[in-house]
Amino acid sequence: MRDFIRRMPKVELHVHVEGSIVPSTLLQLAAKNGVDLPASDPTGLREWYSFRDFPHFVDIYVAITKCIKTPEDIGFVIAEFAAAQAEQNILYTEATYTACTIDRHCGIPWPEQWAVLQEALRDANDKHGITINLILDIVRGDEPARGFEVLEWVSEGLGKGVCALGLAGFEDRGTKQYADVFQEAFARRVPVAAHAGETQGAWSIEETLEVTRASRIGHGVRVLEDKALVGRLRDQGTVLEVCPSSNVCLKVVDQNGQSISSIGQHPIQMLRDNGLFVTVNSDDPPLFNTTLTDEFVKCTDAFGWGPEDLRAMTDCALAASFQPEADKEALKRRIDQGWPSR
Ligand SMILES: [Zn+2]
Repeated sequence: MRDFIRRMPKVELHVHVEGSIVPSTLLQLAAKNGVDLPASDPTGLREWYSFRDFPHFVDIYVAITKCIKTPEDIGFVIAEFAAAQAEQNILYTEATYTACTIDRHCGIPWPEQWAVLQEALRDANDKHGITINLILDIVRGDEPARGFEVLEWVSEGLGKGVCALGLAGFEDRGTKQYADVFQEAFARRVPVAAHAGETQGAWSIEETLEVTRASRIGHGVRVLEDKALVGRLRDQGTVLEVCPSSNVCLKVVDQNGQSISSIGQHPIQMLRDNGLFVTVNSDDPPLFNTTLTDEFVKCTDAFGWGPEDLRAMTDCALAASFQPEADKEALKRRIDQGWPSR
């Protein structure tokens, strides 16, 4: 199956650009820009990526982002990201990119980011024949005014390399403070994908759906705590962007309050058995020592998935992607053509 998985065309909906910077590149950026990191070689960085909990993960994530200092750095990071996606035969990616953090911590204003992003996304398409669209996310914990700013950037880029408004950050800080932002996003018909049900329970998914009207939930594994909510997500077709290794590394808990300590203990198959719409994703691959290919391999080993399962989840990701119908049909044809016969 490993060879089948390696060759099959893929669609990824939940992966972060800054969280995809590989250790060697991070060291290069840090050296070039005079940023101090707690390690000076890839092995040391991998040791640094031992996350105690979610706040510790966010600290490291921000420290990584701070190694970006110029628009050229952004172009370089996207180029590497695109090559890694293409290498795995990921034909279409919706990648979360935290423009507001780069604006704040790296001193690169949005217009400069946007100029280099457009060029880098075009290059990815020319060079590798793959499409990357960006989800610009609001960070829970930031003030709502920042949220409106991000919405403006999304509106400007929609259909030109940006595909949606996202929501991430500290789930325990709630979502209601951004109600006006998401109301405005809804009025502008901006698609929304929001993290929820990762570090917090089913309540967080419920609140996030109510406030943001997201069609996709990032993680959402804790929906299993609430049977009625499971039914609601199934009935309304809400898609879950499940990231198994991320959940193991960040010690996310299952529906019984137990830390998910291995892929075999991950509730992804239980989510599928409950009729939920599940996609497989890598989240921040080098931080969790994984790739999208590895995620499929690990789950296939743990749950005995066959080609039909892999195709069903690929089709689910395709259908849930934020692209025009004509582009979805074109992508479906490419997936059909490239799908391994065995
Ligand atoms: Zn994420």
